[in-house]
Amino acid sequence: MKMYVAGHWIDKPQTIDVRNSYDNALIDTVPRADQGDVERAVQSAERGARAMAKLTSLERARILLRAAELMTQRKEELGQLISREEGKIIAEGRAEVLRAIDTITGSAEEAKRLHGETIPLDAASHGAGKFGVTLRVPCGIVVAISPFNFPLNLVCHKVGPAIAGGNAVIVKPATDTPLSALRLTEILLEAGLPPEGINTLTGGGAEIGDLLVSDRRVRKITFTGSRDVGEHICRTAGIKRVTMELGSNAPVIIMPDADLEKVATAVAATGYANAGQVCISTQRVLASGRVYADFLDALTPKVAALKVGNQLDESVKVGPMVKEKEAIRVEEWIKEAVSTGARLVTGGTRHGAMYAPTIVADVKPEMKISYDELFGPAVVVTPFTEIEDAIALANDSRYGLAAGIFTENLEWAWKFAREVQSGNLHINWGPQWRADLMPYGGLKESGFGKEGPAYAIEEMTELKMVVFHLSS
Ligand code: NAP
Repeated sequence: MKMYVAGHWIDKPQTIDVRNSYDNALIDTVPRADQGDVERAVQSAERGARAMAKLTSLERARILLRAAELMTQRKEELGQLISREEGKIIAEGRAEVLRAIDTITGSAEEAKRLHGETIPLDAASHGAGKFGVTLRVPCGIVVAISPFNFPLNLVCHKVGPAIAGGNAVIVKPATDTPLSALRLTEILLEAGLPPEGINTLTGGGAEIGDLLVSDRRVRKITFTGSRDVGEHICRTAGIKRVTMELGSNAPVIIMPDADLEKVATAVAATGYANAGQVCISTQRVLASGRVYADFLDALTPKVAALKVGNQLDESVKVGPMVKEKEAIRVEEWIKEAVSTGARLVTGGTRHGAMYAPTIVADVKPEMKISYDELFGPAVVVTPFTEIEDAIALANDSRYGLAAGIFTENLEWAWKFAREVQSGNLHINWGPQWRADLMPYGGLKESGFGKEGPAYAIEEMTELKMVVFHLSS
């Protein structure tokens, strides 16, 4: 596919192969953008921002609604594309498209709800005769940098609110999975977006990222990706608005009164989807010592039964990881833990980019598979005694994106919600659950700022205060 810069679909002499990690088959190639393309994209976005700012709220909403219609018409094609370029099973590819349609539709709705408020300035001791209102205005140019693991929906979470808020957007999709973002760009243009309302640059983040994020004409960066790249972007960005949606090692706590069959079903569902490559995947299972062995007995057959293979085969439940090197990394981390005392319960084998769904028990917090972000198809299990210990273990992490607890006890559930340092908290389900309309984002080094169209649109607009000094 070509990339979209300054109102044109362009090729470059240097290209990047996009491959299916199941069999390494070439799916397509994309241009490798260089620094000149960044400059062209920013100049174009300056013109685009002026065009976008002239659109009415209704016009912006209609463009997004039309895009959602086109996505609905092409949902099977988009689902196949996601599945092939990313490696997730086809059912998850299709589900991502439905969620992306929700995200774009929700963004359209928010375009019509964007409003300011009246401020009672006469409540100030010197405010008599003053009248104040706030106005929300576009930031101007939004740079949207997205990760590989949800190549359509996470781009929509950035592009949708940016357009709804009246901005021009420059998209930089992950190099492993750029095709869904390019299709979305086509759809938005077909839906009537001004030609320079969007630029989509394909190319290495390490090569073009610094120039893009440090540019003073860019007023807002919305980034989803790893903690380390996020930190680098924060250091490079300078004075501009930044949203960071970063990683985690999400915990789930199993209290002694939990329904273990339900817990095992939830952990099997939330620990292995997309081969564990979800920022809120269940990674650390903290199980009460009173149910530890019974929980492992309930979980093991469910995990061992997950069929691994070609992501396009409807019977397969876990596809390949995004790249073989990621499966090798997961294999190494798990071997390291087992060599220092952890117990492999099931899995632990690798075939190319496919790593078997794995359970590792008796894991200590100081092991890398516990304290770092594993981002692979494995859960690690650690026992605890009292809820205070479980909460301390859950919080013993630099991350804080999502967490879950299984209990029928309201006191425990409330204590968990109050005391666990996490942006998303789930009672009686694993951490990996999200509705696209909810405020979503992390605490601590999982980032800052919220996604979900109603919240992201606030991050992508500026608030102005207008004061009328009236004489009567
Ligand atoms: P990544 O390696 O951090 O890459 C994310 C994006 O940043 C890619 O587009 C990448 O481009 C770009 N990038 C790399 N270096 C850059 C630089 N110097 N300047 C600007 N951009 C740069 O992350 P990933 O491996 O794709 O995704 C997995 C990570 O994302 C995990 O940590 C996961 O937890 C996190 N994540 C978080 C959320 C959330 O909502 N909190 C959701 C999904 C994923 P290239 O691909 O060209 O390197």
